[in-house]
Amino acid sequence: RDLIRQEVANLPTYNAGLAMDRFKATYGIDCLAKLDSNESPLGPSPRAIEAMQQAAAGVARYPDAANMSLRALVGELTGTQPENVIFGNGSEDLIGALFRAVIRPQDHVVTICPSFGLHEFGALTFGARVTKVPFNDDWSFPVEALCQQLQRKPRVLIFSSPSNPAGPAISEQQFRRILTAADPETLICFDEAYVEFVAPGQRFDALAVLAESRNPAIVLRTFSKAYGLAGARVGYGIASDPQLIQAMMKTRNPFGVNALAASAAAEALKDSAHLARVVAQATQERERIAAALSAKGFACAPSQANFLFFDTGAPAHILAEKLRGKGVLIKAWQEAPYENWARVTMGSPAENDIFLGAL
Ligand code: PMP
Repeated sequence: RDLIRQEVANLPTYNAGLAMDRFKATYGIDCLAKLDSNESPLGPSPRAIEAMQQAAAGVARYPDAANMSLRALVGELTGTQPENVIFGNGSEDLIGALFRAVIRPQDHVVTICPSFGLHEFGALTFGARVTKVPFNDDWSFPVEALCQQLQRKPRVLIFSSPSNPAGPAISEQQFRRILTAADPETLICFDEAYVEFVAPGQRFDALAVLAESRNPAIVLRTFSKAYGLAGARVGYGIASDPQLIQAMMKTRNPFGVNALAASAAAEALKDSAHLARVVAQATQERERIAAALSAKGFACAPSQANFLFFDTGAPAHILAEKLRGKGVLIKAWQEAPYENWARVTMGSPAENDIFLGAL
């Protein structure tokens, strides 16, 4: 008999990129600029590192499976109750817990294309049918096309803003328009992995907007990007209804957030000065590199995140491989119609100069 479920056998392997320590072993040269995973060149707050060192002394004990102090802290910072907050082993873990809790085989899931791979593959694992709505040609969010798909009453609408990999952020008005078109039973999963990078004038309180809507909803955030803790694996979700959180607490891995990650996340949240430095550098570099790319003739999507998505003019893996030969890692998109596009993370100014030089 076939052991592996067909939905799983059909899935592509998650393209997770190459960890830094394996680059030299694989390619025989040093990695000079790792710009393929939207990590922070400034790393975490020093307070988070110190907290992990202190927490290391206590690793003989299991951590708090309910993550109560972290949930209370996020509740305080966002004006929500701890019951509405859930922590996980990265926000990937929470996407899995969410889909495990709500998706039945043949359910319909709607997302945007191009998008973070797990929004699609996570749903496919559970036998969902996924509709991917492409961005408009001018890289505005495909609001009307999404509204049309919502007429089909999908189980879940999931997308990120700012979009990974494209970079644009949805406006409050566009977001509200989408919500008015949604059947009240459609779950809205709004992935804010890069929200810290959005310019203050363009940011809006998605939680408040979702609280006004009738739809079940969850906002996802992560410590992997602006907080510089990708290796610690920690993310959180805030749902409008604690019942969704209770369900996800059952479907998630109970001790998914380890003691070191939990202590780092708490300190990272408290160090707003470090966060401000990270965002300021990423914003400045994004403007500089976007101008340099367009001066070189590469079309670039407008970005509100810590990366840029640009048209390489040919299948993007060709450029990615050439840059890799010079020790520079970027992420080539593989999916049509974006197979000529690549995503480059804003590294340190020196790393970004290496990228531009290699380009
Ligand atoms: N959502 C989006 C949009 C992402 O880009 C990523 C990371 N690439 C994640 C979620 C997952 O992040 P993590 O699991 O590291 O929290």
